[in-house]
Amino acid sequence: MIIHNYTIQEASKLIAKRKIKVYEIVKAYIDKAKKLNHQFNSFLTISEETALMKAKKVDQLIADHQKLGPLAGISLAVKDLFSTKGIRTTAGSRVLENYVPVYDATVISRLNNAYTITIGKTNLDAWGHGASGENSDFGLTKNPYDPSRVSGGSSSGSAVAVATGASLAATGTDTGGSIRLPSTFCNLVGLKPTYGRVSRYGVISMASSLDTMGHITKTVFDNALVLNVTAGFDFFDSTTSQKPTDDYVSDIDKGVKGLKIGIPREYFQSLNSEIKGKILSAVKILEKFGAKVIDVSLPHTEYGVAVYYVIQTSEVSSNLARYDGIRFGFDRSKFGAEAKRRIILGTFALSAGYYDAFYLKAMKVRRLIRGDFLNAFKKIDVLICPVSPTPAFKIGEKKNDPISMYLSDIFTVNANLAGIPSLAVPCGFVKNSNNGSDPGLPVGMQIIGPDFSEKMLYQVGFAYEQETKWYLKSPKI
Ligand code: GLN
Repeated sequence: MIIHNYTIQEASKLIAKRKIKVYEIVKAYIDKAKKLNHQFNSFLTISEETALMKAKKVDQLIADHQKLGPLAGISLAVKDLFSTKGIRTTAGSRVLENYVPVYDATVISRLNNAYTITIGKTNLDAWGHGASGENSDFGLTKNPYDPSRVSGGSSSGSAVAVATGASLAATGTDTGGSIRLPSTFCNLVGLKPTYGRVSRYGVISMASSLDTMGHITKTVFDNALVLNVTAGFDFFDSTTSQKPTDDYVSDIDKGVKGLKIGIPREYFQSLNSEIKGKILSAVKILEKFGAKVIDVSLPHTEYGVAVYYVIQTSEVSSNLARYDGIRFGFDRSKFGAEAKRRIILGTFALSAGYYDAFYLKAMKVRRLIRGDFLNAFKKIDVLICPVSPTPAFKIGEKKNDPISMYLSDIFTVNANLAGIPSLAVPCGFVKNSNNGSDPGLPVGMQIIGPDFSEKMLYQVGFAYEQETKWYLKSPKI
């Protein structure tokens, strides 16, 4: 099998059995990352030297018969919002172009302690602001399933790194869909965990009450392996939960017999019929395995985007105020157009006289949106709905029309507003009108559950994935 088609699960077995050297795998991924970067622009920094050094160390430990765990030697691509000690961290913005952190984000130190190997920092919409990857100050990231299309954002480079076989896993952040959307556009599995399940410490803040840290992988099992390492209370982030974590891998094959799946009707009302078809066929498969399907209503769904863009921009304006050229950021005139737009909108929404009309009202509706979910979860276990209203769109199609770009988030923002977890899982391909070639453009579904239900989401995703294995359809690059 070609190294670039491995899953973490496969690579991990070979490494543990000493059938392949970590150095060999890491070198292969770095070479691929370097080779493809001109074409796709998924990495902003490739940390070749440190990665190869660490690979040698891990090989030595394995040769010494140390038990290092399933992520030992696994190559990792890190979204450039995560602080990495000694490795440049730009947030995708020229404001931080030369910023080198002196410490690691908690997610990164936990992954380092699990012996993963960071091969580089990935491209993103500057500060996480975007749904396509086109807002990066360092150029957009192209979609490997059709390079004339966007990769999805804001974790654009992370998704493309995994989809192109330049890394086995990638970290991402999801404030309004930034893990789930690029995962879907690139045929990958992406988890947005419950707010407070994974530490935000050391990750450059976008909108602090919505920001969640997750990861992107090829398979559901791989995703669960990574969460096993990153989840849990962190002394450095007071919003992390003290609730004990689960073992997300054990019983992943439990199946869905007797599970109640809710189909939220508001998410399907004017949905593109091809995407709707793919999601409903996925639901049929789960029904075949013994799940029960129930129609539900989340009546405040339609207010999600409006509420999100008031709360998120308000928090963005506050968080970006620290890049004033004194402590961080050398030159604030380097903020791009989208960051400026959000700073202005958010400052306006928070200003005296407007606060009650915008921010406070949005916070009240946010509570109603969470209430919709809590009500639904009284009678069902999980919800299944689309991730995106369309497959990956054309580069440039929405760039100059912020409202149409913001509407890409229509199905994802509500889970962030409610703070609940959502797993994006590939569920097939639709024809690409552009070139008609196989496999077409990926489609994904969200499996959404109540607070801290990540283990159940993985079980549902795993049951479906075992039957369909869409991850085997790699892009033709
Ligand atoms: N597309 C959304 C936005 O631009 C979500 C971004 C994110 O999750 N970081 O705000």
